Amino acid sequence: MKIAVIGGGASGLAAAIEAAEGGADVTVFEKNDRVGKKLLATGNGRCNLMNAGPPRYHHGARLAGALLQCFDETSIRAFFDACGLVIAREPEEDGRFYPACGQAAVVLDALRWRTEKAGVQIRTGNACQSIKRSAGRFLVTAGGETAAFDAVILACGSPAGGGTDAYHLASAFGHTLIPPTPALCPLECDMRTFRALKGIRVQAILSLYGNGHFIACAGGECLFTDSGLSGICAMQLAAQAQDALKEGLCEIHMDLSPLLDFCPRRHFYASKPADNHEKTALSWLEERRARIGDTHLLRGALSRPMAEMIEKNNRLADMARMLTAWPFRVTGVRAQSAQVIRGGVASDEVDEETLESCRMPGLYFCGEMLDVDGDCGGYNLMFAWASGLAAGQAAARRKE
Ligand SMILES: Cc1cc2nc3c(=O)[nH]c(=O)nc-3n(C[C@H](O)[C@H](O)[C@H](O)COP(=O)(O)OP(=O)(O)OC[C@H]3O[C@@H](n4cnc5c(N)ncnc54)[C@H](O)[C@@H]3O)c2cc1C
Repeated sequence: MKIAVIGGGASGLAAAIEAAEGGADVTVFEKNDRVGKKLLATGNGRCNLMNAGPPRYHHGARLAGALLQCFDETSIRAFFDACGLVIAREPEEDGRFYPACGQAAVVLDALRWRTEKAGVQIRTGNACQSIKRSAGRFLVTAGGETAAFDAVILACGSPAGGGTDAYHLASAFGHTLIPPTPALCPLECDMRTFRALKGIRVQAILSLYGNGHFIACAGGECLFTDSGLSGICAMQLAAQAQDALKEGLCEIHMDLSPLLDFCPRRHFYASKPADNHEKTALSWLEERRARIGDTHLLRGALSRPMAEMIEKNNRLADMARMLTAWPFRVTGVRAQSAQVIRGGVASDEVDEETLESCRMPGLYFCGEMLDVDGDCGGYNLMFAWASGLAAGQAAARRKE
C-alpha cells in the first residue's frame, strides 16, 4: 500500500505513524518548511493535548463522540507513550492534560522521532495542488511533481492560526463544504469607557445574551484587550456570539464572583449563570463595608482600575450587580485571531469508524479539515489525534 498524507500537522503525523506501522509505504506532503508548526503554538506553548472529561463538541459532535469511544484518553496516552512522550498523570483544572514537561516543542519532537522510526517519508515545502483519480489510483500533484498512491489521507487543517484553506482538494471529489467561520476567537466589544482595563486578567464567568435572552456561559480566565475580551472563556462564546449578532443586540455579562471568596470552585466552569451570586455579592459588600469601610471597599479584592470603576456606583446594590453581571456590548469577533474553525468537510460524509470518504473509496479525512469543532481545553487536538489514528489504521488495512 502506498499512502499519501496531505498535511504534516497534528492529525497528519498521527495518521502517518499508524499507517506506516501498519505496514504501508507512507509519504507526508507538507506545504510549510517544517511539520507541526501550529502545534508549537498550542496551549500557549504548553500544548493542551487532550481532556479527561466527556466530549464537548459542537459541529460534528456525533462523529467526535463515536470516534472518541474507540480512541479515548487511554489510547491517546498509549500512542504518545510509544512516542516516548510523558503526559502528566493528573489533569489540570477543567480536565486539561499537558505533557509533563509543559512544552509543545517536546510533543512535536516525540512525534517526529516516531515518524522517522516508522520510516515515513516527509516532504516539506511541498504543497499539494491537486489529487485526481486515474486507473484505480490517486495521482497526487505536489511541489510540481505527480506521483501515484493507493490511498490518500487529507489532513490539511483549517485557515485558523495562520493555516491555509485546502478544501478544494475535498470538493474535487464531490464533498460538501460547510462554510468556515471562526469558532474559538476573541470577542470585539464596545470598550470606549473601559480602556483603563486593558491588559487585566481575571477569573470570571461570562454569560452571553442575544436580544436579552440567555444563550450560553463559560468560565475561566478572561483578558481585557484594546478591542474587547479575550482568554479562554471569551473565545469559548465566539461562535454563538456571531449567531446572536445576526439577530440583533449581543451582550456579555461578566460575573467576577470567582475572584471573590464566596464563589465555590465548581461554579467557575458553570453551564448556566448562578442566580444567587448577586444576592451573595451584596451580603459580601455589606459585611466588607462594616469591617473595612467605604474608601477601601474593593481594594485588595480587585485590581485598582477595576475597583475604581465599580466603586463609582453609589449604591451597594448597583456594585453587587456590576460585580456579578457587568454588561459589555459585543460588536463582532476577532476572526484573524481564531484558534479553531467551525465548518469544513461535512462530517456525515465520512465513515464514523474509518473516516473513509463516502464519496470516494480510498480517500480519508482527519483533523480540523472536517466540520468538527470542540471547546477550549484540549478537545480539538484530542479529535486530531483520534481521527488521525483511525484514518491511518484504516488506510493501512485497505486492500490495494
Ligand atoms: C494559537 C493556537 C493554539 C491552540 N491551542 C490548542 C490547545 O492547546 N489544545 C487544543 O486541543 N487545540 C488547540 N488549538 C487547535 C489545534 O491546534 C488544531 O485543532 C489542530 O492543530 C488541528 O490539527 P490538524 O492536523 O487538523 O491541522 P494542523 O495542525 O493545522 O495541520 C495541518 C497541516 O496541513 C498543512 N497543509 C495545509 N494545506 C496543505 C496542502 N495543500 N498541502 C500540504 N500541506 C498542507 C499545513 O501547513 C499544516 O501543517 C490551537 C490552535 C491555535 C491556532
